[in-house]
Amino acid sequence: DPGLPLCNGSDDRHHGAMTEVNLTLAEGRALAVKCLMANGCDEHNAAAVADNMMLAERDMCSSHGLFRIPWHVATLRAGKANGKARPRLEALAPAVIRLHGDRAFAPVGHRFGHVPLIEAARSNGIAALAFVDMYHVAALWPEVEALSTEGLVAFAFTASLPYVAPVGGKKPVYGTNPMSFGWPRKGRPPLVFDQASAAMARGEVMIAARDGHTLPESVGIDEHGNPTRDPEAVLRGAQLPFGGYKGSSLALMIELLAGPLIGDFLSIEAEHDDAGAGAAPHGGELILALDPARFGDPQGCMDHAERLFDVILSMDGSRLPGDRRYRNRLKTKEGGFYIPQSLYDSINELMQ
Ligand code: NDP
Repeated sequence: DPGLPLCNGSDDRHHGAMTEVNLTLAEGRALAVKCLMANGCDEHNAAAVADNMMLAERDMCSSHGLFRIPWHVATLRAGKANGKARPRLEALAPAVIRLHGDRAFAPVGHRFGHVPLIEAARSNGIAALAFVDMYHVAALWPEVEALSTEGLVAFAFTASLPYVAPVGGKKPVYGTNPMSFGWPRKGRPPLVFDQASAAMARGEVMIAARDGHTLPESVGIDEHGNPTRDPEAVLRGAQLPFGGYKGSSLALMIELLAGPLIGDFLSIEAEHDDAGAGAAPHGGELILALDPARFGDPQGCMDHAERLFDVILSMDGSRLPGDRRYRNRLKTKEGGFYIPQSLYDSINELMQ
């Protein structure tokens, strides 16, 4: 995740020493739309990206909110992403839809693919959206949550740029490659997790470098392949997957699903395609949707799952993934969200 993230993990608004600007979601959306339109997006494309950023701000995942505007603008100004994209659908099989992104940012394509994927999953029991030729700078959970809110079990996978070495290797090959999973729940928001396959988000490594902090063990290696806790050395070398060979295999799987399977780039190819422009990763995303009504226990499966959730939640200290975001959602509804003044100023400068 190449920007300067820090997404999940915090329950509270960050009120450090820095000056912050408080915005409502409507104000944040308007700011994003204006800046994207000043940099080549039409209203449709700008609105899809801005809405997606506001979902992140709403849930206090600020690293996928307005924080991403400068990177989107750089990707537009480099002539990489198409701000006037019109993605189109192609049926490859009854349950396989290819979504040609027309070099759109991912949330633009999701608007085109969402309903057809749901319809294909309901009629076939299972369906796949092979989303190609797009720029992914976003979290996976918004689309997965939207599918599971419609009663479907959902998965999403995307690769990015080579930052992570395979276990035992010395050079970066994999992206930080996230995967997300959603499970619908009766009368409640779905259970959703969304996690990178790297031990630490790239942005956290960058922030540690900026702030002169030492990294935990097993986050990365230097350019000679030696373990190091020096973030600068890791940025020159490679990050490591979480959980050793297990995370490494997940990163590998995600490369294959979001790349070769659907006919799009591996992370190493996305870097080549970028040709030093520093743009967002150009590539693909695989989204799968399963309709529980078409599997073995349509009447009972939702209640059956709740038995597991009840046991998990009965333990002190345990929670379900996604619950932090759902809690945060209630807070931002009242008080809006905060961005650093410096980011607010940069966004305004990018409109000039
Ligand atoms: P985190 O490690 O912060 O969180 C991963 C998941 O674990 C979340 O679903 C989170 O739920 C859940 N979780 C965290 N703590 C607990 C807990 N104590 N109990 C149960 N569940 C828990 O996320 P990452 O840093 O790995 O990824 C951040 C985001 O960055 C993701 O949205 C991902 O899609 C995105 N990303 C995008 C990339 C791209 O190329 N487009 C590349 C890499 C990452 P909760 O949200 O409720 O805390």
